[in-house]
Amino acid sequence: MALTTDSAISSDPLRSTTARRVLSGMRPTGKLHLGNYVGALKNWVALQKQYECYFFIADYHALTTDYADPRNVAQNTLEVALDWLGAGLDPEICTLFVQSHVPQHAELHLLLSMITPLSWLERVPTYKEQQENLSGKDLSTYGFLGYPLLQSADILMYQADFVPVGQDQVAHVELTREVARRFNQFCPPPGYVPPTHAHLKETLVAEGAQREIPPGIQPILPEPQVLLTPSPKLPGTDGRKMSKSYNNTILLTDPEPVIRQKLKPMVTDPARVRRTDPGDPDKCPVGDLHKVFSSPETLTKVYEGCRGAGIGCIECKGWAADSIVRELAPIQERRARYNEKSAQEVLRNGAVRARKRASKTMAEVNEAMHLLPEAVR
Ligand code: SF4
Repeated sequence: MALTTDSAISSDPLRSTTARRVLSGMRPTGKLHLGNYVGALKNWVALQKQYECYFFIADYHALTTDYADPRNVAQNTLEVALDWLGAGLDPEICTLFVQSHVPQHAELHLLLSMITPLSWLERVPTYKEQQENLSGKDLSTYGFLGYPLLQSADILMYQADFVPVGQDQVAHVELTREVARRFNQFCPPPGYVPPTHAHLKETLVAEGAQREIPPGIQPILPEPQVLLTPSPKLPGTDGRKMSKSYNNTILLTDPEPVIRQKLKPMVTDPARVRRTDPGDPDKCPVGDLHKVFSSPETLTKVYEGCRGAGIGCIECKGWAADSIVRELAPIQERRARYNEKSAQEVLRNGAVRARKRASKTMAEVNEAMHLLPEAVR
């Protein structure tokens, strides 16, 4: 599969980005942290100005792993919505909604499950990995096996051109492309000839036979392209990848004193045992934070001060905290303009728009699957 990056798209003069559709989602894990922000959200905020964007909170997906105790799903969904709004997703220019508010996601998932071989789901790399990582949960369920197909339904529902994902999600988009291809083979719109048939046509033409293929007919479910999200290394306060499950996060909502408190005990380059020992920011999690959040001037001071033992780690962490506080100030200020009620209103309006778009796809899918339409009075 050809990976498509921002630069690859913008350099293609034949592809205007104005009307192209982007779809992405996030599980409702509660308040978001800096890892969620630099790994996805910050990129979405940029994408909303270039594309027609649909962003959804994947509450059905939360149930695939949290079905035994789903009490926090609703509150976590609201927290994610508030953080999205705080980060700068603008409901005037993109569509923000909750997955379960658009029941067509479940409907398309069911229909796609009819055509998807079981082996395709069993071979998704994260299936086995996640079962091992979340060994405290019983994930031998139908819902968990099928969650990559639910993701495919999420994407294909909006006939999306692009899906912004990190490298670890590329396999899921590839599955989506395969599912779309299979659907289009079994359920083509009238006049559409799937690629293999087109290839057959070339053979027929070469043999002197004639077969007319009407131009411009698109498949019902176009194959989406990956929009690879640049995701800088972002360590948590213990030096491991920032993650809720490691309890090492800095939240987008953390006030300044909490951020400073969390950074104080953060691990540093082990070579700097004493203040007089030189260190290397490239071997230090605090250095990684500087690379993401600090200005070039501060970064220069960090490299020179650390390598020459001219600064102490406490001072350096203070500068990192300054940079993070500066980045989060406008986010927290915007978030404070919303409350749960206004966030719910945004999600309600988004669901209306998303359902309208989803109904269009489902009408085409149902027709292609030869289901009898409901009689109109
Ligand atoms: S001075 Fe900064 S970059 Fe260097 S080891 Fe200490 S905390 Fe890390």
